[in-house]
Parts: sequence; C-alpha cells; structure tokens
Amino acid sequence: MVKATLKVWASMLAGLISFKGVLSLPTPEKSCDIDLRGLLTDPVHQWASNTTISFPNTVAFENATERWSIFSPPTYSAAVSPGTEEDVKKVVNLARTYGFPFLTRGGGHGYAASLGAFKEGVSLDLSHWKSIQVNSSALTMTVGPGVIYNDIFDPLYDAGFLMQTGSCSCPSVIGVALGGGIGRMMGNLGLTADALQSVRLVGSDGIVKTVSETSYPDLFWAIRGAGANFGVITSATFNIQPLADFNDGNVFMLDFYLPAESSLEYFKVIETHYSPMPVNLAAVVVNNWNSTLNISQIASDWIFYGTEADARKVLAPIFALNASFVTATLPWNEIVSIAGGGYDKYNCEPNKPRSSFSLNQRDYNATGWQQGFEMITDFFEKNPGGRSSQLMFELFANEATAAVPENATCWPWTDVRGFIQAQFTWTTGDIATEESANTVGAQIRGELSKTTGYDSPTVFVNYARGDETIEDIYSATKLPRLAQLKRQYDPFNLFAYYHPLPLEYP
Ligand SMILES: Cc1cc2nc3c(=O)[nH]c(=O)nc-3n(C[C@H](O)[C@H](O)[C@H](O)COP(=O)(O)OP(=O)(O)OC[C@H]3O[C@@H](n4cnc5c(N)ncnc54)[C@H](O)[C@@H]3O)c2cc1C
Repeated sequence: MVKATLKVWASMLAGLISFKGVLSLPTPEKSCDIDLRGLLTDPVHQWASNTTISFPNTVAFENATERWSIFSPPTYSAAVSPGTEEDVKKVVNLARTYGFPFLTRGGGHGYAASLGAFKEGVSLDLSHWKSIQVNSSALTMTVGPGVIYNDIFDPLYDAGFLMQTGSCSCPSVIGVALGGGIGRMMGNLGLTADALQSVRLVGSDGIVKTVSETSYPDLFWAIRGAGANFGVITSATFNIQPLADFNDGNVFMLDFYLPAESSLEYFKVIETHYSPMPVNLAAVVVNNWNSTLNISQIASDWIFYGTEADARKVLAPIFALNASFVTATLPWNEIVSIAGGGYDKYNCEPNKPRSSFSLNQRDYNATGWQQGFEMITDFFEKNPGGRSSQLMFELFANEATAAVPENATCWPWTDVRGFIQAQFTWTTGDIATEESANTVGAQIRGELSKTTGYDSPTVFVNYARGDETIEDIYSATKLPRLAQLKRQYDPFNLFAYYHPLPLEYP
C-alpha cells in the first residue's frame, strides 16, 4: 500500500508539472506488475462521489466494458466510470505513470484488430456522460461522450434543427466524428466531423485543452479523422442547421426489395442514373437473406432531402423497376428507426460475434456489385448459420465533403462516394461458419477492391478492420503530419489501441 501511495503521489505530481517535466519521469512499470485493484481503490485518489470503479464479475463492470462486436476483443481487469473531468485526468495521469493500458469507451461500437492487443487494461467508460445542450442562437449542440445518435434525434428536431449523422442509432456521436463520420447528408452537409466546432480534450499530459480552429488548430486538424489517437474528448460542440433550410426537416423515403434475378438490372440503373449521386439523395443497398422466402435478396432504402414531388422526379428510374415500393414522408429524426424496415435495431444488437470487411468506393460499378452479390449469395447458400450476415453498399453524394479544403482536416477521402461493407455474424461457437465468413469476407473485399476506383483497397478509419495498411486507412499523404502530431501530443503513446497511428512516418 505504501509503495502504491508513493506512486500515486508521483502520478499526481506528474499532472501538476509541465509536459516537458512529465517526459523526464522514470519509465512506467509494466502493467502486469501492477495491482490495479489496489491502485485504483487507494483512497488517496479521492475519486468524485459519482465516479464508479468496478471489477470483473459485477454488473457495473459488465456495463462499463460491453461492446457491439466481440471481434478481436480488448480484455479488461478494471473499469473507471468517471463522474467528473478531474477524474478523467486522474486516470490518464495514473496510466502514464504506472504504464497500464486504458481504453476510452464512448458508445462501445468500435471494432479493430488492434483492440485485441489491449490486454487486462482499464476501461475508461464515458458512456453515461449523456448531456446534450442545444444553443438555438449560436446554432450549436454540445454533447457528452456517452451521447449516441439516438439520443440527439428528438431533442435536435424538437428544437427545430438537424445535423449530418451516421446511418445507425447506436454509435456515440463523438466516436463517429473522431473517425470522420460518413452518412446520408455527405452531399449537402458533409461528414459529422465537418460539423465539429470545438472539443474539450484531456491530452496524454493530463491537461484539458479546448481544441478548435483557433485553439490548437493542428490538433483540430488531426482529431477530425484520426481523433482516437490524441486524447480523451469529454465534450464536443457541433454546428447544427435550422429545419427550415431542409424542407422543414421532412424527407422522402423509398424502400423496396428485389429478388436475385433483378440484381444486375438494378445495379445498372444505379450506375447509369446515380453516378454521381444527386446532392440531396442517399441510398443504402443491402444484400441479405430472406428467411421467410428462403432466398438471397436486395433490400434498398433511398432517402431524398426535399419534397416528395422533387423526390419522385429524381427517383423515376428506380420507380420504373418492377418492385413493391414502400414510400413515406418522414421527419428527419425518424429516418434511422423507420428506413430499411427498421434494420437499425438488428444492426445495433450488442455483444455478437461479427466480422467486417470494408472498402471506400469512388466509382459506382454494377459489375463489381453483382460479383459481390453472387459471392455473398453463395455464402448464404453454403452457410445457414451465417444468414444474418449482409453485404451493404452505402451510396452517398459528396459535394459538401469534397468542398472541404484538402488541408483543412486529416480526412483523406474527399472524393469518396460510397462504402462497401461485408458484415458477417453467426452464433457464438459456430466455428465452421466463422471460418467461412472470414474467408469469403476477405475474398469479397479483394474482388470488389478492383472496382472501387481506387488503386488500392482504401477504407476510412471507422469501417477499417485493422488488417489493412495504415496508408489505406489514413493515406500516405496525411501520415507524415499525423505521425509528427502523434509524437508531439502523445509521446507516451497512451492512445494506442484503436487503429493506432505510428509515431514516425515514413
Ligand atoms: C451499428 C454501427 C453503425 C455504424 N454506423 C456508422 C456510420 O453511419 N458512419 C460512420 O462514420 N461510422 C459508423 N460506424 C462506425 C463507428 O463510427 C465507429 O465504430 C466508432 O468508433 C464508434 O464509436 P463508439 O464511441 O460508439 O465506440 P467505442 O468503441 O466506444 O469507441 C471506439 C474508439 O474510439 C475512441 N473514442 C470513443 N469515444 C472517445 C472519446 N470521447 N474520446 C476519445 N476517444 C474516444 C476510443 O479509442 C475507442 O476505442 C458504425 C458502427 C456500428 C457498429
């Protein structure tokens, strides 16, 4: 206990002295030598009364470590669910001093091969930080790190606003923004990261920084696309848009299913008429298995940000297909829960074995999509245990994304107009299906990467599996500056487990 207490004082001192001073601290101990329970429960820390420290085999610990996917999972020995920013700083300072790994948890939806290298560390769980403040006159919304998309839809809409979001309800808004944040409004508003105005960031020095265009602008450049590598974001302020500028927040939705025999015709219609995708339009096209009819099918969901009359004109080539169409005019806040027959609730189920293989897409290529459809259909036919899997094409406009100056953020894929994701799931323990999924997933990614319009299989950070090259995730153009900033702001490499950046590049 005495030894631990002395080290705790060293840690607290480290938080007080300058960053330069911290660099001269002795090398941290290896995490395996540390009694995390003894260290974290030492009263010397004076944790806030609303901070929870939890350990395995408790409900609090399970809640603080739950993840969406059990792919390449991190393992934990303890969790700290801080009640205050001061306690976030304490965790960072302790981790730096004692050398134990910690992982910030927002919505728990991140997956990455690199997470598997996180062993018996501490979950810095911020999922309960749910504050949302809408400032109608400043046209901003400030959210805590535990706020997921589902938390903001109604409050924003009820206050008369919208913003660009991802396509599901469950990831954290901040977690998505840190990796760029793609979604249906890339045509008219850009990425979620493009709406970011400022954040509060606890750096690896344990000091809180306001990061924005005018305060630490170099860090602001880096966190919009590679943000998981630079600190703990305790709050973020985003620009929001009045509903009045977007058809009073109403959108037109078109949903339908097509059987396998119509797939190529449909893909050709998209390639011919929607390349490039009109600015107000977005489509999510999912190849999946219909367990009622026992067939492979294509489920589609198109959203038009505008009036029904305009939508019907833009969507005329789709309406010409032979299908039963479900149409609706929806308020913006209901898109995610209603579109695609409510697939969001299945996509968001936590704690499942999942394996994803993804690609960025610049060119729309009917032949490539058809090949992918045939490959996943073959997988469904041979692997009944994998029939909840899907191959998804997200097709978005990119005017607003492309309009952001190339050097404004570290997001490298300004010309991207779509995303391909083969997402496999199976029942835990079904090794045969798991092996088949991983083989077929890699094959689909390999084949489709030849048709995306990029020279190599590029993928943006939020969708990356983690077996890609860092150039294919962050781009060789952005990596030299990212590595230099990583060295400058995280020389201890504390933020090293989620699609980690190198400290040197090349
Ligand atoms: C069902 C589903 C739908 C998705 N839809 C989209 C989409 O439409 N668009 C899109 O771009 N992406 C999407 N994603 C990918 C998603 O953006 C990433 O998985 C993202 O990392 C999830 O963030 P999280 O906070 O929920 O997850 P977490 O696992 O909590 O976070 C992932 C990593 O981000 C870092 N991190 C998270 N919060 C913070 C914070 N406050 N401060 C510092 N670091 C932090 C941590 O390193 C953490 O390991 C989706 C993922 C899923 C599973």
